[in-house]
Amino acid sequence: MPLKRLVYCFFIQLVFACCVFASPNFDERLTTLDKLLQTDLPQAEIILAELAPSVSQFTPSQLATYHTLSSIKQLYLSELEQANQSLDMALSFEPSEELLTRIYLYKVTIYLLQRNYEAAFSMLEMNLSRIESYQDNRLKVASYVRLLNIFLDLNAYDEMRDTANLVLNINQGKDTKHECYAKLYLAVATLKLTQYSQANELFKDSQIYCATNEQPLIANMSIKGQAQSYFELGQLVLARTMFETALIGYQEFRFQLEINDVKAYLSKIYFYQKEYERAAQYADELSKLNDDKVNQHAKKQANEVLAMLASKDGDYAKAYQYQLIAHTLDLQYLEDKTNKQNAYQMARFNNAETNRENKSLQQERMLMMQQKDLMLKEKSSSMMFSTLLFGVCIGLVLLLLTAWLQRNQFRRQAQRDGLTGIYNRQTGQDLAEDELVQVLANHSHFSVMILDLDLFKSINDRFGHATGDWTLKKVTHVIQDIIRPTDIFCRMGGEEFVLYLPNTDPQAALQLAEIIRSEVESINTKYSGHNFSISISIGISSLDDGDLSLDPFLNRADIALYECKRQGRNKVLIYQPSFA
Ligand code: GH3
Ligand code: MG
Ligand code: MG
Repeated sequence: MPLKRLVYCFFIQLVFACCVFASPNFDERLTTLDKLLQTDLPQAEIILAELAPSVSQFTPSQLATYHTLSSIKQLYLSELEQANQSLDMALSFEPSEELLTRIYLYKVTIYLLQRNYEAAFSMLEMNLSRIESYQDNRLKVASYVRLLNIFLDLNAYDEMRDTANLVLNINQGKDTKHECYAKLYLAVATLKLTQYSQANELFKDSQIYCATNEQPLIANMSIKGQAQSYFELGQLVLARTMFETALIGYQEFRFQLEINDVKAYLSKIYFYQKEYERAAQYADELSKLNDDKVNQHAKKQANEVLAMLASKDGDYAKAYQYQLIAHTLDLQYLEDKTNKQNAYQMARFNNAETNRENKSLQQERMLMMQQKDLMLKEKSSSMMFSTLLFGVCIGLVLLLLTAWLQRNQFRRQAQRDGLTGIYNRQTGQDLAEDELVQVLANHSHFSVMILDLDLFKSINDRFGHATGDWTLKKVTHVIQDIIRPTDIFCRMGGEEFVLYLPNTDPQAALQLAEIIRSEVESINTKYSGHNFSISISIGISSLDDGDLSLDPFLNRADIALYECKRQGRNKVLIYQPSFA
């Protein structure tokens, strides 16, 4: 049984393994293709051709990579339009962030080769900000390396040197391919900045590094770089050897642009070394190149060699013609170079301008925000002020109200009797005097009563002072309920009261006094806690023709009161002259 299972498992595993090997691993193939494009172009072309029939089985991400890699091959073969179309195809498959940067930068290269500077710069700008925002150093390094090629195309050698150093700093030898590229670009920048000896050393370094790290194309470019620096230093023998080595390398890669460029150099060197046939052979070949702008430089150099050769043979007319062509090409080349540099400077200026605009916009925004802040603060402070003002007003009103209430209370306290709450003697007298003036002017009646509780002392004595007070308050309330609002009721002191009755004749006063007397007599004292009887005596007097003040008829009322007491109390009497 276990043996059977073992055989079964083995069979399953075999089938699985077969399936894995049978299915083509496109990702691996594409990675190999990417590598070969930098090392072995013919081999890369073979793989591209092999992959072409399987394109329908690719995933979108594989398609994006495939079309990007196809564009690189087309770029090498100077098929710029096709290369651009391939990149557009790649873009349509939503490439990864890393691939997107590659695509954009290849597009920049194509636009530059096509002299479409505007398109190149807008794409470059877009990418620069993308690259700077990367958190991933590996991606940053890769993106900066691609940027280096563009700086080269732009003749922006300072930027190229700085960026190459930046890459070497960030990378720290981690990614050998990018390390190799950065080394080459650093050497190229140094060469272009005419520091030939230093450049030569840097090229030697990049050649060794790139060769040992499987970057033969870059190693070959480094050989060409050494040749160029030797050429500039006037060391033609060394330059020639190096150029010839580089040419073989480029031919293996079928890197046509570089092949042409190296041949142009060699043609010149051969001429200087008096190997005229070889010089003429390369010069002829190059002069027949099409008028594509990428060929301008090589063609110009070829025509110069042809002019020198014609001049050497004494054919000055021909030499003049070649020289003229070379000169025209040189002008075009220079114009192109100037255009490129101008475009680059313009883009830099625009970039600086945009930054400045952004900055000033930001400043404006800050200013606006500050103003808004200020306005808000002003608003809140004005609100605070309003609130404060409102508060102060309320406070003031309250203060005034309190003062008014207090003043009223003081006045009331000053005017009223503390125990009973009715007017005190002085206030009663003041008010009565005012009434007297009116009454005298109107020839109206004015009566007065003096009321005195009978034997009040004995209430105090029998039931205590508090019961005496209760009695005083009770009697006051009873009288207040009976009299009219216009009557002036006041306490003279002790258990004695005065009631001034404007516009009241003696008979009306007598009737009122009778009511008061009887109401006081019927007060129920049980609420005081004691049972006792209360009675009051009332002396009445009315205004006489001769009275000009209160005193005389108050005096007469007092006499009438005395008469009440004399007649046995609990009595009401109008003053009679006989009482006196
Ligand atoms: P008459 O009938 O003759 O008026 O006798 P009377 O006791 O009412 O008069 P008298 O003047 O002898 O006594 C008045 C008393 O009233 C003397 C005093 O103690 C008392 N008295 C005065 N003011 C007050 C007060 O505010 N409260 C109390 N409880 N007693 C008062
Ligand atoms: Mg009394
Ligand atoms: Mg009295």
